[in-house]
Amino acid sequence: MFYSRIVKVTLILGIILNSSVSGYSWGFFGHKVIQQLAIYGLPKSMQPFFHRNMAHLVETSVRPDERRNTDPQEAPRHFIDLEAFGENPLEHVPHSYNAAATKYNADTLQKYGVVPWQVIKIKDRLTQAFYRKDKDSILFYSADLAHYLQDAHVPLHTSLNHDGQLTGQTGLHSLWESKLPEQNLAHYNLRHEKAQYLKNPEEEIWNVIRASHQLVPQLLAVEKQVSQNFTEATKYTTSERNGRTRKNYTDAFATAYNQALGTMVQDRMRASAEKTAAFWYTCWVDGGKPELSELLSTPRTKEETKQLKQELKSWKKGTLQEKDLLLTKIKLSLMNVVKWINESYA
Ligand SMILES: [Zn+2]
Repeated sequence: MFYSRIVKVTLILGIILNSSVSGYSWGFFGHKVIQQLAIYGLPKSMQPFFHRNMAHLVETSVRPDERRNTDPQEAPRHFIDLEAFGENPLEHVPHSYNAAATKYNADTLQKYGVVPWQVIKIKDRLTQAFYRKDKDSILFYSADLAHYLQDAHVPLHTSLNHDGQLTGQTGLHSLWESKLPEQNLAHYNLRHEKAQYLKNPEEEIWNVIRASHQLVPQLLAVEKQVSQNFTEATKYTTSERNGRTRKNYTDAFATAYNQALGTMVQDRMRASAEKTAAFWYTCWVDGGKPELSELLSTPRTKEETKQLKQELKSWKKGTLQEKDLLLTKIKLSLMNVVKWINESYA
């Protein structure tokens, strides 16, 4: 009886955790961490409002990925397959959506991805939401804007070879954006600069895409190079799921790959958090700098202010994880409970 209950609890927790850690972009873990970090980069005029709503913003940072399960229009909003646009795409793809749609037609854009234009579209909606002082819309579009912008920071989200599938490196997508951050976050320096106002957001998002895309050859080459020290058996583990065999990179390979990549993943995470805060801030300024404290249902308490201060201090010192201040870590600790139950009753 007790045993079967434990098995049931384990199964349920397993399902929840599985669905929360396997994502399409930055992994769910990465998005949630970046969302929290972005709030620490906001100016004082915005930070208390965003901090009060931090748990909600962290939780909904992955909503656009979840939407992909129900909305067939959603998937292309998360990537752009630049190579599909011919030689030197960064020089030839127009930065404005209308010009790009005229040049390639809307169906082509839909097929090869629209992430840069999606960022600008949602940026405009968030600006409007600030202008209207519409709290629900501010939170909704802040989360969505952050998600697409964060996806644009992932190199493989800018490439036709998005899973390494064209170069015999299938599985590289989730290795780079999920497994590496989950495995190595404790060693990352996640302190980023304070939010800057962006005079030309369209130019900014294309700079992000360019920086991401330029990393693609390197991350593919490093995988090949590290693979020389591994055999098929030490490089991959296989698992059975729904009758299909899945191949995943081993922890040992992930460790070696991370070491060979240096600070690449950390740097993209940091840039992602910094840019998220900068886009939020820019929307708030362009939306007329509304007084956000008026949108809080109750005034900030002393405890909240104290808590925020402590978090900011930890963020600057790089001890958020050590001090258990990362919201997404709560789920990972649950995972340890599952492991413990499994081990105790195996
Ligand atoms: Zn995504």
